[in-house]
Amino acid sequence: MIAKQRAGTMDKIVALSKRRGFVYPGSEIYGGLANTWDYGPLGAELKRNVKNLWWRTFVQKRRDVVGLDASILMHPRVWEASGHVVNFNDPLVDCRTCKSRFRADHLIEERLHRQAEGASPDELSAILREANLPCPNCGNRTLTDARQFNMMFATTIGPISETGTRVYLRPETAQAMFVQYKNVVATSRVKLPFGIGQIGKAFRNEITPGNFIFRQLEFEQMEIEYFVKPEDGATAFDDWLSAMRGWLRLIGVREDHIRVREHAGEELSHYSSRTVDFEYEFPEPMGWKELYGLANRTDFDLRQHQEVSGEDLTYFDQAENRRYLPHVVEPTFGVDRTCLVLLLDAYDEEETLDVNGKPDTRVVLRLHPRVAPYKAAVLPLMKKPELAETARRLFSRLDEELGALVDYDETGNIGKRYRRQDEIGTPFCFTVDFDSLQDHAVTVRDRDDMSQQRLALADVPDWLRERIG
Ligand code: ATP
Repeated sequence: MIAKQRAGTMDKIVALSKRRGFVYPGSEIYGGLANTWDYGPLGAELKRNVKNLWWRTFVQKRRDVVGLDASILMHPRVWEASGHVVNFNDPLVDCRTCKSRFRADHLIEERLHRQAEGASPDELSAILREANLPCPNCGNRTLTDARQFNMMFATTIGPISETGTRVYLRPETAQAMFVQYKNVVATSRVKLPFGIGQIGKAFRNEITPGNFIFRQLEFEQMEIEYFVKPEDGATAFDDWLSAMRGWLRLIGVREDHIRVREHAGEELSHYSSRTVDFEYEFPEPMGWKELYGLANRTDFDLRQHQEVSGEDLTYFDQAENRRYLPHVVEPTFGVDRTCLVLLLDAYDEEETLDVNGKPDTRVVLRLHPRVAPYKAAVLPLMKKPELAETARRLFSRLDEELGALVDYDETGNIGKRYRRQDEIGTPFCFTVDFDSLQDHAVTVRDRDDMSQQRLALADVPDWLRERIG
């Protein structure tokens, strides 16, 4: 489905997330704190499923990748070495009339449909002056020139802010992998090529956050720094490109909603020799936006940290009897953007009939069973002790044998309970009815096509395990 046809889906996802407990606005009882979001009970499960699957796929299952779980606070010189103090800026324009702030490159991309990421403030200012754009908020043609704004959040260690040490909340998880590279090489018997993977929080003082959980001030990343021989960067890049495509298939993102966009020379970050963005086609008015990135960071980071820290970060290649700084290929995945596209891709409305035979709209989240918060629900047809006994036994068995979350719901009419499970993406419902007490079987109802079939109680765990992967 093209973005235009899906216009409005974002609002529906925001409403469903609140209504069903996927994502709530942050600090809501205090009037909220703009662009902070909290994952509710179902969102926490979805997010955990994404992170566990990623960790299993890229760290535990691969013999060439090891994990790391580093501090959010790092020595301030890390960010000097990495270039973030000087380069991690967004170009900002103010409106002199209403005092609103915008990202200059985004404004140009949105209003003039010109690629502007990576352009200097002077270039952006020249484009803005020539186009004489009105302020998107108040309409006055009173926008300032573009100027740089550093996106790192700073805080202070120590009791008094004047004498304390100024530190930053990390704006990416990547740097810890470079800073700990030497320890990992010395302690984990890894040999090139190898990767270090990490999942964790990152913080950015974004000028124009928004679009729900797409752009937040605080978010989570899943990143790998993959260290290779200097001459092997290009090959590793291609390997990771296909591994990232494989990941998107694994979690069930629709292929026609994804494209891979190559960064042109002027758009490349200061550290990168080649970058591609995995873009997702968000519903209008967002359109194509970055979901993930893949960059060849060359030996930029290790070289910088070697120089600034004074530590030798070269690698001794025993097989070739030579010493060099490895090159690094970095696949980076946003956890929150993953959750967002999973919800957007899964959302569907279907015209159908309600329990009384009246026309009705069925809302269904067609989440892949791998990521769905609940893998199944056990539903006694009615709230009766004899049904509850069998249903509870099935629930306990699934709970223990599956090691995944299963729901149990016995209140309300069965049609409404099915609809609730549809809306939260539960792939299968097992209904225990009076026949079950005689034939030791249950009805399995499929979320996607609402079909029903009879299945022996004893077979349920294996049947389900096969389907959730
Ligand atoms: P954008 O161009 O959208 O600002 P970026 O190029 O700055 O993104 P990276 O620095 O490559 O993003 O960060 C890696 C990943 O982290 C992104 O692909 C995205 O999934 C995620 N990410 C980055 N910034 C945010 C944010 N403010 N909120 C949520 N996720 C983010």
